[in-house]
Amino acid sequence: MTRILLLGGTTEASALARTLAAAGKDAVFSYAGRTDSPVAQPLPTRIGGFGGIDGLVEYLRAERIGAVVDATHPFAAQMSRNAVEACGRVGVPLLGLQRAAWVAAAGDNWVHVGSMEAAVDALPDAQARVFLAIGKQNLGCFAAKQHHYLLRLVDAPAVAPLPDCTVVLARGPFEVESDKALLMQHNISHIVAKNAGGAGAEAKLIAARALGIPVVMIERPALPAREVAASVAEVMGWLSHADLGV
Ligand code: NAP
Repeated sequence: MTRILLLGGTTEASALARTLAAAGKDAVFSYAGRTDSPVAQPLPTRIGGFGGIDGLVEYLRAERIGAVVDATHPFAAQMSRNAVEACGRVGVPLLGLQRAAWVAAAGDNWVHVGSMEAAVDALPDAQARVFLAIGKQNLGCFAAKQHHYLLRLVDAPAVAPLPDCTVVLARGPFEVESDKALLMQHNISHIVAKNAGGAGAEAKLIAARALGIPVVMIERPALPAREVAASVAEVMGWLSHADLGV
């Protein structure tokens, strides 16, 4: 049976892990190790980086991996680039499980930007109350503007990430009504979001639309060409392809 490496960290990766486990597939789940207590998976799980492209090449060979599914976050571009390069070198088939990006609907007030720095620039100069819905990794650059920031994080930070901020601890998926309540409770005037796509984090955008709050939308980083699937079912179809021998 072909051994599958599933690069995870998203709701879709967890759904795929459940399907692979239920189907009795030989698969290993891989987490970057970004949160203190990652969601438990029904597959053997490894945590932490591979050590760049060379480390991943070594891992694929040592573990006799026969197929890789990259179901990482759309902003985990380094991991996805490394997977393309390493799988190419070893000759292991690679499939990206990639959810569609969010698209603005009637009533949305989005400003599209291409980077964190551009998102900072897109915020007003006058003091605002900003919901920074971007995770924990890039908060530092927002210190360049003296807004009040609302942060929603999975783990409590050891020190306040920004001078004037409120931290709410929560793990998705999120609901529209509770996100509306959060935005109103904190009197939010602007939202900064990464265009992750998917249902689990969309609630804040629907809430913003209902409340007329502008959104600075950071668009996805570019990835090298690779084969992609849009659903768990498509991945299962790809894995059962005769060439993979799964
Ligand atoms: P990244 O910048 O693409 O990855 C950096 C390094 O982390 C990779 O080169 C790799 O290390 C390791 N890595 C990433 N995903 C891995 C996985 N599934 N298994 C093993 N190692 C992995 O990605 P990131 O730093 O995790 O996140 C980048 C952006 O994505 C952030 O904006 C973050 O908020 C967002 N995001 C990530 C996750 C997640 O679970 N990764 C979830 C939600 C959001 P080596 O080079 O050493 O192999």
